[in-house]
Amino acid sequence: MPRNMPHPATLAAQALGWTDATTGAVVMPLHTATTFERDADNQYRRGRVYGRADNPSYDQPEALITALEGGAASLLFSSGMAAATAVFLSLPLGAHVIAPRIMYWALRRWIMMQAERGVLTADFVDATSLDAIRAAVQPGRTQLIWLETPANPTWSISDIAGAAQLARQAGAILAVDSTTATPVLTQPLALGADIVMHSATKYLNGHSDVIAGSLTGARRDALWERLVATRGGNGATLGSLEAYLLLRGMRTLYPRVERACRSAQRIAEALAGHAHVEAVLYPGLPDHPGHAIAAQQMTGGFGGMLSVRVKGGEAAAIAAAARVELWKRATSLGGVESLMEHRASVEGPGTPVPADLLRLSVGIEDPDDLIADIEAALTR
Ligand SMILES: *Cc1c(COP(=O)(O)O)cnc(C)c1O
Repeated sequence: MPRNMPHPATLAAQALGWTDATTGAVVMPLHTATTFERDADNQYRRGRVYGRADNPSYDQPEALITALEGGAASLLFSSGMAAATAVFLSLPLGAHVIAPRIMYWALRRWIMMQAERGVLTADFVDATSLDAIRAAVQPGRTQLIWLETPANPTWSISDIAGAAQLARQAGAILAVDSTTATPVLTQPLALGADIVMHSATKYLNGHSDVIAGSLTGARRDALWERLVATRGGNGATLGSLEAYLLLRGMRTLYPRVERACRSAQRIAEALAGHAHVEAVLYPGLPDHPGHAIAAQQMTGGFGGMLSVRVKGGEAAAIAAAARVELWKRATSLGGVESLMEHRASVEGPGTPVPADLLRLSVGIEDPDDLIADIEAALTR
């Protein structure tokens, strides 16, 4: 790489290298103002009016996410859900959307609720199959194809480039929830997506202490302007302190994700042959149904998330989770500490998640400790 085009890991470590023009500080000041002064001639030449839509503390984290995703612009939101729902709420009323059957459960539930209210119509399809997506397209009506890859909690893989082609043919947009992949491993925009969404609560922040979300657009087009208006209008804005913490977290995104990937691969391989394990779901294992596409579309690793189906069903899975000492029994993912959860208990009745499934978020601890702890817990 030429010196004027640093690698993404360098951009992240230096948060684009911004320094404060007045003081030379290598960390930008935290802006807490909710309002901004007008010029004497009644204009707002400095571009900011009111804190619900305008916040200088967003500039650097948004610019960094834009650079890492290779987009045109980014927006921070008060949560991943606020970011994701903004995409659906920016579609024309009654729009038809295609979403995966296996996806982040709270968003699936929200889409179903909006469909019941007539805000949109939705088809949930097997998003690992381009044929299934193609069959669901309603020419002239489908406005959005939503993907999540790798998808919660089976880590099934969708072909982003293939879906982008289908979206283009249908005149629809393709939005990708890339929370699990992170910009370290996948660049959905380069593969043809129009919008990338992150629950920045997870890997981008990485320390389990901020709820935040982001959208990155391939273009600053009419859709993007609707998204900007939706964020301001719905008031789904992030606090300044959270924006600051998120930027600090993103500075270590690359080493955190790289280590989590290496450890997850080792843990998946170690557990694959374990006597009390029915199956290990991890796209880095050659027998995972999405392995071939993941190997093409992900670079540098297969992510820090895996799931284990425990022999003996639901009771055995919950009992194994009860016996871990290092892993924390908690929902969420992408933090420096490793988490384990019995996923079906979180999603409740009607979930498509197998009852024997434990979801593992691999942190940055020593992988030998993590393997020893989970092997002991599985062995009884
Ligand atoms: C957590 C998560 C969300 C929701 O994000 P919040 O920040 O919790 O609102 C959406 N998608 C995926 C894949 C997630 O893991």
